[in-house]
Amino acid sequence: MIIVMASRNEEDIQRVVSKIERYGYRAHLIHGKEKTVVAAVGDERGKARLQVLESLPGVESVLPILKPFKLAGRELHPEKTVVRVGDVEIGGDEVVVFAGPCSVESREQLMDVAAHVSEAGAKILRGGAFKPRTSPYSFQGLAEEGLELLAEARERTGLLVVTEVLSEHDVPLVGQYTDIFQVGARNMQNYALLKSLGQLRKPVFLKRGIMATVREFLMSAEYLLSNGNYDVILCERGIRTFETETRATLDLNAVPVIRSLSHLPIVVDPSHGTGRWELVLPMSRAAIAAGADGVMVEVHCKPAEAFSDGYQSLTCENFERLVRELVPVAEAVGRSL
Ligand code: PEP
Ligand code: MN
Repeated sequence: MIIVMASRNEEDIQRVVSKIERYGYRAHLIHGKEKTVVAAVGDERGKARLQVLESLPGVESVLPILKPFKLAGRELHPEKTVVRVGDVEIGGDEVVVFAGPCSVESREQLMDVAAHVSEAGAKILRGGAFKPRTSPYSFQGLAEEGLELLAEARERTGLLVVTEVLSEHDVPLVGQYTDIFQVGARNMQNYALLKSLGQLRKPVFLKRGIMATVREFLMSAEYLLSNGNYDVILCERGIRTFETETRATLDLNAVPVIRSLSHLPIVVDPSHGTGRWELVLPMSRAAIAAGADGVMVEVHCKPAEAFSDGYQSLTCENFERLVRELVPVAEAVGRSL
């Protein structure tokens, strides 16, 4: 339920919050430009009881939230969310570029690529230390050593770091090093992981599962928000269809669809979305034109030698070109880059 406040009086708001909590619901406060609203989120059964809050001082109305994604949806939160990490804003006017290798492989590889992408204009360095590989015989990542290298690259370049956390057991370890937790496509519906990340106050980069609908995607975001973590960045990374020319089908419909349903920022990953490096530039252009708040691309200084996803990785030179070519696209849709 949404409790729309007529006043911004702290005492009135607190009275509503305690009443909500007494009924066993969680209260989420949203201070909008026009009004303050309190969302009572929890067990759907018996929520009608909350209607009595209408009689409390300072309350304007009590309304049901119609969509299933109560906190991720626009109903409660019409204004766009801007996720702030360090001095970077995701979801603001600027289109943010996330770039780096698929996997952290060695100090030399990571420092080299980090220096290049930073120079070319990336704001956030990506790179997996824990890799979710289809085969158990494929490179699984450098684990903590990889995290240390990411932290070293941040020191050297000033880039922020995003890296994947595969299991809730690794959350404390990964959290010591990363600025943003990445939840990969395979883990989009790992609810234990989402609940544990929901308890923290560190941004989460949530990738869409390859078989997930937009609604399921937003319900996964809801796990993070309902546990109290509002800093969620969504990422469209392609879904599985009957098409075999590309590794996945990059669902750019999802960008304006999510934009209309949710206030959360949405980033597009055309590297995993296509699986082919030569498609990354055209699909990045398309993503920004469709309204994406950022792009995440894989970059490797020697793609032919990459431990994972070399065929979809841009060379450092091609990455520089990508950023140059995306600037006018961003400007054409009223954004900067
Ligand atoms: C990745 O970004 O390294 C990755 C494994 O992507 P996804 O979870 O989208 O497959
Ligand atoms: Mn990859």
